[in-house]
Amino acid sequence: MKTQYRCTDCGLTFKLEPNLMVCPSCSKGQKPDEPLVGVLEVEYEGKIEADFQIIDFLPVEKEFFPPIPVGNTPLWEPKNLRSQLGFSNLYFKDDSSNPTSSFKDRASYLVSAFAKKHGINEIVLASTGNAGSSMAGIGAAQGQDITIFLPKAAPPAKLIQAQQYGAKVILVDGNYDRAFDFSLAYSKVKGGMNRNTAYNPMTIEGKKTVSLEVFKDLGCAPDYVFVSTGDGCILAGVYKGYKDLLKMGLIESIPIIYSVQSEGSDALYRAFNSKDGKFVNTPTATIADSICVDVPRNGYHALKQLKEFGGKVITVADVDIIKAQKDLSTSTGLFTEPAGATAYAGFLKAMNELPKDATIVVMTTGNGLKDVATASKGVDPLPTPINSINEI
Ligand SMILES: *Cc1c(COP(=O)(O)O)cnc(C)c1O
Repeated sequence: MKTQYRCTDCGLTFKLEPNLMVCPSCSKGQKPDEPLVGVLEVEYEGKIEADFQIIDFLPVEKEFFPPIPVGNTPLWEPKNLRSQLGFSNLYFKDDSSNPTSSFKDRASYLVSAFAKKHGINEIVLASTGNAGSSMAGIGAAQGQDITIFLPKAAPPAKLIQAQQYGAKVILVDGNYDRAFDFSLAYSKVKGGMNRNTAYNPMTIEGKKTVSLEVFKDLGCAPDYVFVSTGDGCILAGVYKGYKDLLKMGLIESIPIIYSVQSEGSDALYRAFNSKDGKFVNTPTATIADSICVDVPRNGYHALKQLKEFGGKVITVADVDIIKAQKDLSTSTGLFTEPAGATAYAGFLKAMNELPKDATIVVMTTGNGLKDVATASKGVDPLPTPINSINEI
């Protein structure tokens, strides 16, 4: 299929090139502490039939992808939870079963292939933890050199995971936003492909595959999708998948998407509810580290999509996230990290406004084992070890 980039702000089109990240004209006005302007989306011309393969719907040929099985994650049908809550068509799309245990593999996979196609062997990025460990793992499979900028407070499991895969890990004395700026500065000086979320158009494009898979599994689009949101890149990816399906005439409408944020990191929620749609840069803090961002990098674009397609933004408190994580583990056997459980906490908060027979997909985006320190807050501490079963 014929492909091109289209700027989500001005509508100008460009050729797909490895050194083109954001719209050259719109990004001239980019301020350092605001969301990205001039985010590019891949546009397709041609025809796709309902029995398409996911690869048919991606802008890089099969031979450039690394040999690591990304995507095709399971769609759970939680029987007990369905009857307990009364939602007969509730599903979980569990992306913790990706090779590096998070949703981020969808983006890393396409970025890796795109870099390979253009003979680029170094990839640089900033991450709260998952994007880094993901790019490290996918890069290991492809044989690429990966350099990661991580905030010093990143959960140890994610950091060590990235080191295990052989990536160069640089800890930043600051938060994710600072790591983002450092990584941009580094790749400008040292070269390599930058995989920063939303900045590299292949991140949104790779993430869209989740919607294509859900469509293939259900045979239609769901009515509602719940997704946790930090930078708003997964959100945009989810929309992109359904937009592509709509354009090809395979679905009739875009699902209602609920973007769920933590109350402690709710920049998109505040912008969504403000009159001018402006993002205010305030320091954030949440136990859901994967969605802890001061400035959502894909904020403007995410906001535009939500407004255009009737999406919603809701927030949940950290205590509700911890509780939702434990409830989900106990009622379904699906143990997801706090950012993954945030989408479920959002569903629990919003469910009274949803029809009971609606088809609802809640996305769980990362594995619970990635941050056991937070997971331990949801369970009782164990008593002292026993010496006899009479002590139980
Ligand atoms: C990155 C991430 C998110 C949020 O994605 P954004 O594109 O930043 O909104 C949610 N959950 C997990 C587990 C993640 O790693």
